[in-house]
Amino acid sequence: MDNTTKQRIALISVHGDPAIEIGKEEAGGQNVYVRNVGEALARLGWHVDMFTRKASADDPAIVEHGPRCRTIRLKAGPEEFVPRDNIFGYAGEFVENLLEFQQQEGVKYSLVHTNYWISSWVGMQWKKRQSIPQVHTYHSLGAVKYTSVETIPMIASTRLEIEKTVLETAERIVATSPQEQDHMRSLVSTKGNIDIIPCGTDIRRFGSIDRLAARQELGLNPDEKIVFYVGRFDPRKGIETLVRAMGRSQLRGKANLRLIIGGGSRPGQTDGIERERIEAIVAELGMTDFTTFTGRISDELLPAYYTAADVCVVPSHYEPFGLVAIEAMACGTPVVASDVGGLQFTVVPEETGLLAPPKDEVAFGIAIDRILSNPDWRSQLSRGARLRVEQKFSWDGVANQLSELYIKLIHNSAKVLVKAGI
Ligand code: UDP
Repeated sequence: MDNTTKQRIALISVHGDPAIEIGKEEAGGQNVYVRNVGEALARLGWHVDMFTRKASADDPAIVEHGPRCRTIRLKAGPEEFVPRDNIFGYAGEFVENLLEFQQQEGVKYSLVHTNYWISSWVGMQWKKRQSIPQVHTYHSLGAVKYTSVETIPMIASTRLEIEKTVLETAERIVATSPQEQDHMRSLVSTKGNIDIIPCGTDIRRFGSIDRLAARQELGLNPDEKIVFYVGRFDPRKGIETLVRAMGRSQLRGKANLRLIIGGGSRPGQTDGIERERIEAIVAELGMTDFTTFTGRISDELLPAYYTAADVCVVPSHYEPFGLVAIEAMACGTPVVASDVGGLQFTVVPEETGLLAPPKDEVAFGIAIDRILSNPDWRSQLSRGARLRVEQKFSWDGVANQLSELYIKLIHNSAKVLVKAGI
């Protein structure tokens, strides 16, 4: 199939709006993934409609991202932010409005790619009404997540059941790392078809400036040793481990040390509780003078922050993929990450950074110190990090692999329909 015959496809991301500002409440990797995959697929010739829930009365119903690619916001529940664990009750309304939109526009979709378990249910309902092949990406697996959280939400049993059904019935599941595939097989089901296609990053945007220029742009001291975190404020992200690691004596003894913690919404929003908790620990450990909380970092400044850092730390308790790690590596910044999930796939210990057991502040402290204390070795890791991302994790490469998969599945489903005489 060449570009001229590529068809209309739907990406569904009920709770992760691909057109929203990233870094806002609950907006993170899934939003980035859907937006970048959608835009890259459109560049390859597909007509891409990305469906999400309208979460604010002020947001336009349709956002055009460029030729052949748009976000469509459907009414499903109140037009306000709803935490993801409370959204499922509105998924039925989402399905009805999706089908109505399709009818109004007079279009037909050749394939649906769903993201996260709530959207997987939407895709499965769609399949009950019309014949359409479904591809699904989990972004997070309940079966893994619930082993690392203290309180299991009410919705857990519904989620686990839906995650099992979609694995067994979707035409294809996309695991973003071999580790995620292993979790699906060992914890969810041995049935169903899985392909491994990783997440990606923009290798032109990340890696476009050098370290000195980045520090100048951000007004950061060229002599400081900068340790950087960016991401959502969620206890699963393990920011506390990083803070306590930085509070340890071998790091505290370093002159010109700076800890920069990026991301997070305004006070009063749900992630504000975690941010306040982390700020309190920083104060209690007497680290306020060398710790900076930047708040949300804009798309424009993010590459400079990664590049300015000596080391980027991803201390998550669980991480299905972890975009932050590859964004930092694309900027040539070594990563110290938890030895879990997708981070075991992206970070190669001693080549692109180091891995440490999750929640182990002593091990994190030692790993960070090793990199800060050896500038020559750091430069070597920096080159290894950039190389690994160039070879494995560009969005264009990822979109090409997804495109090939879609073509195959659309072709198979057409054959099935012909056989059935439909
Ligand atoms: N991010 C951002 N600005 C911020 C905070 C986060 O752009 O202030 C982006 C970050 O660059 C990354 C994404 O949010 O692309 C987080 O994705 P990741 O997979 O690391 O974590 P998730 O949010 O999916 O748990």
